[in-house]
Amino acid sequence: MNSNREGVDVAIIGAGSIGIAVAYYLVRKYGIARIALIDPRDPMSLTSAQSGENYRNWWPHPIMAAYTNDSIRLMEEIASETGNRINMTRRGYALVTRNSDPADLIEDLYRGYREAAESLIRIHRGRRPHETYQPPTSADWESAPDGVDVLCDPELIRKTFPAYAPDVATVLHVRRAGSISGQQLGQFMLEAIKAMGGRVIRGEVLCIEGVMPFDLTIKTDDGPTRLSADRVVNAAGPYLRDVAKLLGEDLPVSCVYQQKIAFEDREGVVPRNLPFTIDLDGQQLTWTEEERAILAEDPATARLTEFMPGGIHCRPDGAEDGKWIKLGWAFNGKASDPREADPIDEQYPDIVLRAASRLQPKLKSYIGRLPRGTHHYGGYYTMTDENWPLIGPMRTNGAFVAGALSGFGTMAACATGSICADWMMGGELVSYAKTLSLSRYDDPAIMAELAALQSRGML
Ligand SMILES: Cc1cc2nc3c(=O)[nH]c(=O)nc-3n(C[C@H](O)[C@H](O)[C@H](O)COP(=O)(O)OP(=O)(O)OC[C@H]3O[C@@H](n4cnc5c(N)ncnc54)[C@H](O)[C@@H]3O)c2cc1C
Repeated sequence: MNSNREGVDVAIIGAGSIGIAVAYYLVRKYGIARIALIDPRDPMSLTSAQSGENYRNWWPHPIMAAYTNDSIRLMEEIASETGNRINMTRRGYALVTRNSDPADLIEDLYRGYREAAESLIRIHRGRRPHETYQPPTSADWESAPDGVDVLCDPELIRKTFPAYAPDVATVLHVRRAGSISGQQLGQFMLEAIKAMGGRVIRGEVLCIEGVMPFDLTIKTDDGPTRLSADRVVNAAGPYLRDVAKLLGEDLPVSCVYQQKIAFEDREGVVPRNLPFTIDLDGQQLTWTEEERAILAEDPATARLTEFMPGGIHCRPDGAEDGKWIKLGWAFNGKASDPREADPIDEQYPDIVLRAASRLQPKLKSYIGRLPRGTHHYGGYYTMTDENWPLIGPMRTNGAFVAGALSGFGTMAACATGSICADWMMGGELVSYAKTLSLSRYDDPAIMAELAALQSRGML
């Protein structure tokens, strides 16, 4: 057994987007240099490598809107400092429905943007002049507008988004939204952490003994080693509960596998300037009678013949002059064990393509003939029931958690890192920090409010 006598101030378990961001803000805000990021895998190679890398400030609750707004502001700071090394773009999110009067969605917008709603929500109705609506012609994040444009005018919708099916009646175009390179963000942060003396230890934390200092046993390729740390951060992604167990604790999270496909759009069906587009309407997939009968017979596939939830998304991927597109649909609601083989579903590419072609009918040309080289992949949404993260102290003194980032960990990594660093160093906390920590479970009012929400903001 090797022994690291020096020890560190902070040991962060997990070098995904979240563990790295915690280390970065400990370095950047508090000058903490004696940090060890511990992971048996390459940094950013588990869930963080599967991210669609989209961001948005659209949420059905103002706390999540404030949290992601803060994170976007921090990403923008990094984009400015680095000459946009993180490839930040801002064409927005287009939320699409066939409902011409989606009062519930507009209500959600008002609730999410709270007191700023009046100035941030612009409704474009009827034959009014549309000069206040700026179409997403440029990807530049610095010149894009804020707020949300609600397009209720069919003519304006057709003109701006000709690839959509003609039955689309309303588009909610959220403007502080787009894409970033999460991998570049992670690399940039790692360089800053290492430049300050932080280090990455390749190994798996197997055991945690003692409290402040903690005594960690780490399995490495060179055999077990030990590390002493004044504080520990559990940033283990899908293994959050396993690491909590090492401290004798449990965390209220589960892991739900979600998938995506990416392929070369050789026929140029999806316009390259399309915002990240989400079809909000549920649907019944179209099958032939024979296909329907076969699917309905098998309990594992019967659900595909029933009415399915909305949330199918599509966006162009990579360079503007490129051809790749990404499709996703987080319809799986069943938790599984991340220690077992990934529950990848061979039928998923066909399912998501059929669903997406309802909104973009030209995608139908790929049904049954997806290009060779289509990439089908997935990862775990590690999540609480309410789909809010866990950031802050664990029950054990000196132990912290930064996790349960579900499908929003790339966009929220910066704010998560900053808030966790503030908790650890006794810095000034943002007003909503407590509600994102484990202490929200001791607050019946907020838990009742969350239980009453119609949407968990999951995409
Ligand atoms: C299909 C998909 C699409 C997504 N799309 C988006 C998107 O568009 N936008 C967005 O913002 N987010 C998106 N997300 C969510 C985002 O990817 C995650 O929230 C984020 O990557 C979580 O990061 P993490 O650091 O918590 O976890 P991970 O990246 O999984 O990192 C956890 C690390 O902990 C390590 N670890 C575990 N146990 C131990 C141990 N005992 N010792 C040492 N190390 C340990 C693991 O090896 C791993 O490297 C998506 C997720 C998926 C699955």
